[in-house]
Amino acid sequence: MGSIAGGRLAGKNAVVTGAAGGIGLETCVLFAREGASVVMADISGPALDKGIAKVRELVPSAPGQLATCICDVSKESDVAALVAQADGWGGVDIMFNNAGIMHADDADAVDTPDKIWDLTMNINVKGVWYGCKHAVLSMRKFGKKKGSIINTASVVALVGSATPQLAYTASKGAVLALTRELAVVHAREGFRFNALCPAPLNTPLLQDWLGDDHAKRLRREIHFPSGRFGEAIEQAQAVLFLASDESSFVNGTDFVVDGGMTKAYVTPE
Ligand code: NAD
Repeated sequence: MGSIAGGRLAGKNAVVTGAAGGIGLETCVLFAREGASVVMADISGPALDKGIAKVRELVPSAPGQLATCICDVSKESDVAALVAQADGWGGVDIMFNNAGIMHADDADAVDTPDKIWDLTMNINVKGVWYGCKHAVLSMRKFGKKKGSIINTASVVALVGSATPQLAYTASKGAVLALTRELAVVHAREGFRFNALCPAPLNTPLLQDWLGDDHAKRLRREIHFPSGRFGEAIEQAQAVLFLASDESSFVNGTDFVVDGGMTKAYVTPE
């Protein structure tokens, strides 16, 4: 796939939220390698510093520009300021609304605290909405004839889990629904919207929470036909496809990258 002159994203401006984390950082590396200019956004400044250093180390002669932006996606003014950075380069071509949280106190219908519900919705849903809104405004402002917006949902938006995190699950269902609707609304403008549905992964979001609890881990791993969790890079490869013009007729999808998990009943021993 390295045969496209200047890379698969040559000349495009990309914004990635949650850029210091598992999926986001791997995606920034691929985007930079494929010729995009990338604004890396995250709520954590120190994590962003480490993240941009990693991208520079892995892609030493990146053809595009690279910048960071401390941004809380649940605040619209932060997201507007983030997109303004890409406007300085000529406007957004690719927006990856990927930042999300899964709170340790998120539980079931009875035990989920109100404030955890609101926090989760504010980041996972409103944050994605603000990212979509400001990406569309930027694309219009710069007269873009095409653009790709990718929103990170989850497999729990598609299948129920007996280990509930109700606010998280509801938030990811909302991401699928809003992505689908925006895909239809903006199709004639050339702006594509797709949702990424990752299965449980080896990233800090899940692994910090599982810790050394082997039983808790096995309770989840058993459902994978592949017998393992996914890797962030496997999600990033899918995001790269959705961001590039190679996916020009892919719009409004729930793009599932799960090693077959959501298609499985009895898995191999
Ligand atoms: P991660 O925790 O490694 O990274 C998430 C990043 O988002 C972190 O760097 C964090 O600082 C940042 N962030 C948190 N709140 C933010 C805010 N308000 N504004 C800006 N940035 C913020 O997680 P990951 O696994 O890379 O997850 C990325 C996305 O994938 C999330 O939306 C998550 O829900 C989704 N997802 C993850 C898994 C999994 O198993 N890891 C599975 C399905 C979906």
